[in-house]
Amino acid sequence: MQPTHTDPEYYHKVVDCQWACPAHTPVPEYIRLIAADKYTEAYIVNWESNVFPGVLGRTCDRPCEPACRRGRVEDEPVAICRLKRVAADNKEREGVLNYIPAGPFPSNGKKVALIGGGPASLAVARDLAPMGYEIHLFDEQPAGGGMMRTQIPSFRLPNAVLEEEVGYILNMGIHTQFNTYVKSLREVAEKDYDAIFVGTGAPRGRDLNVPGRQEAAANIHIGIEWLQSVAFEHTAHIGKRVIVLGGGNTAMDCCRTSRRLGGDSVKVVVRSPFAEMKASPWEKEDAMHEDIPIIDNHVPVSFVVEDGILKGMMFEKVHPVYENGKRKLLPTGEPHVFIEADDVLIAIGQENSFPWIERDLGMEFDEWDMPVVDPLTYQSTVPKIFFGGDAAFGPKNIITAVAQAHQAAISIDLFCQGKSLIDRPHPASNLISAKMGIHEWSYDSVVTVDKRFSVPQADKNLTLKDRKLEVELGFDCKTAFKEAERCLNCDVQTVFNAKRCIECDACMDICPTACITFTANGEEPDLRSRLKAPANNL
Ligand code: SF4
Ligand code: SF4
Repeated sequence: MQPTHTDPEYYHKVVDCQWACPAHTPVPEYIRLIAADKYTEAYIVNWESNVFPGVLGRTCDRPCEPACRRGRVEDEPVAICRLKRVAADNKEREGVLNYIPAGPFPSNGKKVALIGGGPASLAVARDLAPMGYEIHLFDEQPAGGGMMRTQIPSFRLPNAVLEEEVGYILNMGIHTQFNTYVKSLREVAEKDYDAIFVGTGAPRGRDLNVPGRQEAAANIHIGIEWLQSVAFEHTAHIGKRVIVLGGGNTAMDCCRTSRRLGGDSVKVVVRSPFAEMKASPWEKEDAMHEDIPIIDNHVPVSFVVEDGILKGMMFEKVHPVYENGKRKLLPTGEPHVFIEADDVLIAIGQENSFPWIERDLGMEFDEWDMPVVDPLTYQSTVPKIFFGGDAAFGPKNIITAVAQAHQAAISIDLFCQGKSLIDRPHPASNLISAKMGIHEWSYDSVVTVDKRFSVPQADKNLTLKDRKLEVELGFDCKTAFKEAERCLNCDVQTVFNAKRCIECDACMDICPTACITFTANGEEPDLRSRLKAPANNL
């Protein structure tokens, strides 16, 4: 067998959580800092890569967790996301301000327009402002944050957390024009901006055109529009009986918000089987914990309206059939089901919407009427216009928007400097060499056998009465320490130097899981089977 190659990318990929995080957050590094009570430093490690640690520590879709190695040795991964929140909750604000770049920054003479004020645009602003770019941000909302402000309810993301993290960025000298809907990309393009970034998200909620839709329009609401209206306090009530259509996280936010606005009997009705719903498992659990049943395998047939008043909806019962890896929903043949409702919220998906981009601008659009965007550089076919976040490739999540924004910011910088956009750095992959003796471990390396700790929640009787009362309380520091100890520190990787190894076996003696084997070389399949921890699965 040949020695393992020492390409930094290889080491990076072995830190599964970090590789799975779209923004490549150095997870084990911040977890060790939390275990050492260094919350401010842990926050900054996050802030550098994912920009919104307080927001994401509460709301991230956490693709890192299914990848976590701890989840391969027992049922549950390390609570990576909620540990991030611990850093955000316990950091010292003054300390954070000492770390983050403070303007005014020396100008580099370049000017960039950001259209949209959500996570993608804010992350571009955060990356470029300290480099001397003059940033102008336009958003139709009265404040920054985009979908983090309008679509995530306060009981999951308190306003103060959002304000703080948006503020860190806007205070870098960003020129903001809120309450400003950009009606024409041409108008912006004709101004003296060196580059333009479009981060307008996926602002259009899908509608459901089945019989009765128009007659009952007053009591049928598009989910994201309704959440926005609640966030800006234009809507404070909903009927007692509510149907929420859809199976994603927006549907979960709609149903839980309905419970707080007067909905006594709130039901989620979804076409797909429960297990295949798009909502994160924990979002479904939280909804059901608030006494919201999820009725799966029901396809909407019509809105039932009597004398102009919505009475409910009819559904057809279906069952899934799988052929060649594709799912079909076939009617069960049972009678249609009627479910009563005073209001219906439609949360069946979101779409991009670019009525404000002139089609004669020279920008290429694809067959779905989406701008053609390079997946590496995020550049459109108009060289100085870049896209990122949901506006680039359709709705995903905050952390993906941030990751794309970092790449777009790199491209904008290269473009403004007249350099090639292809010649770009890999995602952060630093190899830090540390010579460690057995007395030099800087963290507690005991392998704990604790199972994942659950995050405590506030009393349901209180949270259902106040839509702004945060449900999750977060780990206290003691529990966070114990949860942090579950991390296996996958970024600590020993590089054996064959020429220098004297086979003292010290590494074998201190390896906490006794997995190091000294044995003669051989063919790889044979060698794999002779290890103390045989690796026959690769
Ligand atoms: S055990 Fe720790 S370092 Fe390893 S994948 Fe999980 S969180 Fe990351
Ligand atoms: S930002 Fe999200 S995906 Fe990345 S490490 Fe944090 S919780 Fe995981």
